[in-house]
Amino acid sequence: MKPTYKVSPSSLNLMLECPRCFWLQLVKKERRPPTPFPSLPSGMDKVLKEHFDRFMEKNKLPPELNELKGYKLFNDKELLKVWRSNFKGLQYLDKKSNILLRGAIDNILTRGKKLIVLDYKTRGYPLKEDTHEHYINQMNLYNFLLRKNNYQTEDYTYLLFYYPNSVTKTGEVIFDTKLIKIKTDPKRGENVFKKAIKILQVENPPKANKECKFCKYKNENL
Ligand code: SF4
Repeated sequence: MKPTYKVSPSSLNLMLECPRCFWLQLVKKERRPPTPFPSLPSGMDKVLKEHFDRFMEKNKLPPELNELKGYKLFNDKELLKVWRSNFKGLQYLDKKSNILLRGAIDNILTRGKKLIVLDYKTRGYPLKEDTHEHYINQMNLYNFLLRKNNYQTEDYTYLLFYYPNSVTKTGEVIFDTKLIKIKTDPKRGENVFKKAIKILQVENPPKANKECKFCKYKNENL
């Protein structure tokens, strides 16, 4: 039986922002107007995956991860291919509601038997103090998914940020990197998923987020 709904870390971020928008998107297939999305991050993601995979083949870590001792890159290539796919990813089906949670990861580190999610982030500027906080929900959900698939995880994950520094005389763009360790709680991920299940099962849409300009714009222009 096909899942009634498929949710992902990004749609669950939308739910935390505005439960109404989440409900409209999933139940009524009504999407908020799209905002232009720069294509650099997805292009970088692809190049970075290839770069990391070359090191994985040699059983080494790339220089960006020099500070990590005792870690390896996850080397089950077939599984990684599935977990990286936007159409498959790591999955967990809540049987009672028939709602599927799925999330595509960038990479996995291992330390002994434990798995640690490693996510690449491309930005235009160096990080602010709180930049990483935007990704905590996503990381909680990944660890929740790994646990539901019977893998052991550490109670943290890593974000590896890339941001431009300068251009060389020969035209190559130099990127700086920053590795951030994020405390991660799968239980919180589970609670967010449970909240989403509840919202998707109500008949009428929840209240809108008053701060959001889209609904106001839409209502004023009807
Ligand atoms: S308030 Fe904004 S986020 Fe919420 S439903 Fe309206 S458009 Fe969507």
